[in-house]
Amino acid sequence: MEASNQGKTRNCVSCGRAIAWDANVCQYCGHDFRAPAAAPPHEKTILSLVGGILILIAGIMGLAMGAIFLVAANNVDTLADWGVDVAGVGDILSDILTVCGIIVIVLALIVLLGGFFGVMRKHWGLVILGGVLGLFLIGPYMLASILSLIGLILVAVSKKDFS
Ligand SMILES: [Zn+2]
Repeated sequence: MEASNQGKTRNCVSCGRAIAWDANVCQYCGHDFRAPAAAPPHEKTILSLVGGILILIAGIMGLAMGAIFLVAANNVDTLADWGVDVAGVGDILSDILTVCGIIVIVLALIVLLGGFFGVMRKHWGLVILGGVLGLFLIGPYMLASILSLIGLILVAVSKKDFS
């Protein structure tokens, strides 16, 4: 069998030139035919997906909270109807609420972006950043922070899912 292959040639898959039939390494380009075939693509785990979704939810919560701050800032006067004396501090209160609302919305947008990339399994560093910033969103019953923390842990342990 081997003898019948003497003198036969084949074309190198790398450079296309004719090489000895049983050559292990192409003499022209150095392509090594003994190299193992490319490893199968890594199976992505559910952990990274769930982590991304949790961070995404935290971001949505933050966005809603920021919107509530802004609405409240524009309706400080109505606090008087609830018996809160806002005379003299109404403008300051409105400004504080506006600044808080804008800060929360900017934070929430970065968290949302992180969560989105988490679901896509891309840009691991950005997803981690989103999860960390999500910790500061707090939210009702600290839900946004708790979701971010769990999401952060899930994404951190499944780093290999990210390209
Ligand atoms: Zn070659």
